[in-house]
Amino acid sequence: MSALPPGSTIGILGGGQLGRMLAISATQLGYRCIGYAPKGDNVACDVCVDFFENGWTDTEALAAFASQCDVVTWEFENVPLAAARAIPADRIAPDPHALEVAQDRLNEKRFAEDFGASPAAYMRVESEEDFARAIDQVGAPGILKTARDGYDGKGQWRIDSAHDADGIRFPGTPCVYEGMVAFEEEFSVILVRGRDGEIRFWDSTVNTHEGGMLVSSILPAGDLIEGQVDGARAIARQVADALQYVGVLTLEFFATKQGAVFNEMAPRVHNSGHWSIEGAATSQFENHIRAIAGLPLGSTETRFASVDMRNIVGEDALTAHTMLAEDGEPHLHLYGKAEAREGRKMGHVTRVSHTPS
Ligand code: AMP
Repeated sequence: MSALPPGSTIGILGGGQLGRMLAISATQLGYRCIGYAPKGDNVACDVCVDFFENGWTDTEALAAFASQCDVVTWEFENVPLAAARAIPADRIAPDPHALEVAQDRLNEKRFAEDFGASPAAYMRVESEEDFARAIDQVGAPGILKTARDGYDGKGQWRIDSAHDADGIRFPGTPCVYEGMVAFEEEFSVILVRGRDGEIRFWDSTVNTHEGGMLVSSILPAGDLIEGQVDGARAIARQVADALQYVGVLTLEFFATKQGAVFNEMAPRVHNSGHWSIEGAATSQFENHIRAIAGLPLGSTETRFASVDMRNIVGEDALTAHTMLAEDGEPHLHLYGKAEAREGRKMGHVTRVSHTPS
């Protein structure tokens, strides 16, 4: 594909904050964005020139949306595969096959294993009997996760001991039971792959989660992670090449004393890459747009000695403006969500410094 000329239209499936930040970058590069998502708090709407609030099964609306776009992408990996496949194949990037792999935890583990990734011990669970067998074979502690549709720790149940499992019923939907990883730290590998196959990686931050949701991403990540990044990148590169991926791809890992354990992949820009807006020469959002638009990729180099990104969750967003008075020039991003519900990602703040932390 030749580079999309300025004024071209980029379609985004999904209407959340990732779509909003993608649209901001696309707009800066002279493109127009149109969003598509079912009715809801579609905060990408504020920065798109048009927005289709239609269901994922509305084939007429999807066709009308696609007909107005030069290229379509997604910001959310639970976009139903059929909706992504409804977009003409030469007009969507990445290829929806990446969604197919990543939407199912079993698929993604097997796919990554083929390229040398080591996930925690796991078993498919499709019944009460499978669940009992999995606890027996994989052992406890562990985590039962729905195979599909989970995010930010939702659809997950922690099982501390085999006895504990008596109180947790198989939720009736296909799941994966995986052993609890005694990790030291967590990190992600975020890469961008261009239409010509060129790959660039951002530095890996140390990521902290609470209740399954990302709290912070910090650079430098420290010796343990830095020692495991090369191996993790080699896996991510093979995954991206095998998928003929175009755009930003994220793989999440646990750093253990024994090495990197693969957790999951996200075929999209990622919360742990938000720091790149101010912290890197080119952000994950801009490089995703550059990749799908067929533009040259930008440098992913970190521009500061230390970077600290923290999510702003729930009602903390209501007073977040006060942090603008703080030293260190915090870069505040609020996503414009209508309701500051508990546990909801409302924004993030990034602090950068030329002095190491
Ligand atoms: P996930 O949605 O699978 O990325 O899980 C969200 C977070 O829950 C991870 O980033 C970890 O902090 C934690 N977690 C998930 N799976 C495991 C595991 N097998 N062992 C230890 N912690 C886990």
